[in-house]
Amino acid sequence: MDGVAAAAALRSVLHRVKQAAERSSRASDRIRVVAVSKTKPVSLLREVYDAGHRSFGENYVQEIIEKAPQLPEDIAGVPNLVMVETVDDEKIANNLDRVIGNIGRKPLKVLVQLVKHVTSSCPNLEFCGLMTIGMPDYSSTPENFKTLAKCRTEVCNALGIPEEQCELSMGMSGDFELAIEMGSTNVRIGSTIFGAREYPKKQ
Ligand SMILES: *Cc1c(COP(=O)(O)O)cnc(C)c1O
Repeated sequence: MDGVAAAAALRSVLHRVKQAAERSSRASDRIRVVAVSKTKPVSLLREVYDAGHRSFGENYVQEIIEKAPQLPEDIAGVPNLVMVETVDDEKIANNLDRVIGNIGRKPLKVLVQLVKHVTSSCPNLEFCGLMTIGMPDYSSTPENFKTLAKCRTEVCNALGIPEEQCELSMGMSGDFELAIEMGSTNVRIGSTIFGAREYPKKQ
């Protein structure tokens, strides 16, 4: 996919997000659209950036390290990393916590699956919500996203915080509209914006 096509795809995604938000009586500016640019070249990100988008997501630390110096500073997350999604084991949490503590910056926002550990043992990390991936084929399992939304309710009850303070990152290219209708505050869209990913073939 070239840059012009990616910028057009972004516009189409934003439009679909708006419509899905309206269907669930929510303001679409409360739903963050993360353009997932893993495996895609900086030139392609740049086109989407120039179209006005600022939230980008990467999956591989090595790619962030390579791309960050080539990208404008106001992209959400680079180089002043705003939020880390998918903090999914205690080792990652502890390492992040240590590094952030050493830098001496304000606590790093994280979306996690190990809430208790982060809130009780990682003072340099700020628990911001849950990062979730629904099962494929939503239509045959409509309880899927409902279960994830319920998860947030339970976590908030356990922590004694209002649900508005707990993000629910849910929804990717194939299912983001349904995810929004089920309460997602953050959708992560890769292939619909940037085109299918090509990974080097394993020998
Ligand atoms: C790659 C990736 C996405 C984007 O997936 P698409 O189906 O291409 O939109 C979303 N979330 C995570 C965690 C990913 O790794």
